[in-house]
Amino acid sequence: MNSKNYNSKLRIGVLALQGDFEAHLKALQKAADQLGIEIEAKAIKLPAQIDDLDGIIIPGGESTTIGKLMVLFGLQEPLQQKIREGLPIWGTCAGLILLAKETDNAMEGQPLLASMNIRVRRNAFGSQRESFETDLSVPVLGEAPFHAFFIRGPAVEAVGPGVETLATLDDGTIVAVREGTLLGTAFHPEVSGDPRFHHYFLRIVQSVKG
Ligand code: GLN
Repeated sequence: MNSKNYNSKLRIGVLALQGDFEAHLKALQKAADQLGIEIEAKAIKLPAQIDDLDGIIIPGGESTTIGKLMVLFGLQEPLQQKIREGLPIWGTCAGLILLAKETDNAMEGQPLLASMNIRVRRNAFGSQRESFETDLSVPVLGEAPFHAFFIRGPAVEAVGPGVETLATLDDGTIVAVREGTLLGTAFHPEVSGDPRFHHYFLRIVQSVKG
């Protein structure tokens, strides 16, 4: 029996205003193939493109630039509306900053989606450790550590009610969180070659779509 049901194809958009959206599109397609899930992954730039999506990824890049372009392209309010409706959204690095309700050193007037009950600090790792790699324990992904690439990433400084911490660094700094259908990682799973975070997000999308 052919288990593929084309009507239930998951439509996932990767916000393609700036940053490393191409790497996410590739990683997502590969992850879906591995799970045998039919998806349509597309780069999105315009409000009309998000109407029929089942999930969205906001990639890494520069959160100030992505935020400004998001306003310019008329995407801020439609994305906030989708979040209120429970659409699964995963922000990586700059994407996590955009999802946060609070940032303690955002550029003044930096547009955010301001939806996740967390406070983040941009460029939290200073010049010595601006970019680094480390093995993270991420219990929701299983026992094997997840090799994480931090590229001038943020740290999550505080989490509010309803936010689950998925991973911390050895010193306790929170670097991966989930709040309902929102997922945030301070690092870049799309460059790690490890598909498990993409699998995890695809399963959230699948469970919401039902
Ligand atoms: N430092 C960037 C910012 O503040 C994030 C870096 C990244 O996404 N790799 O937006």
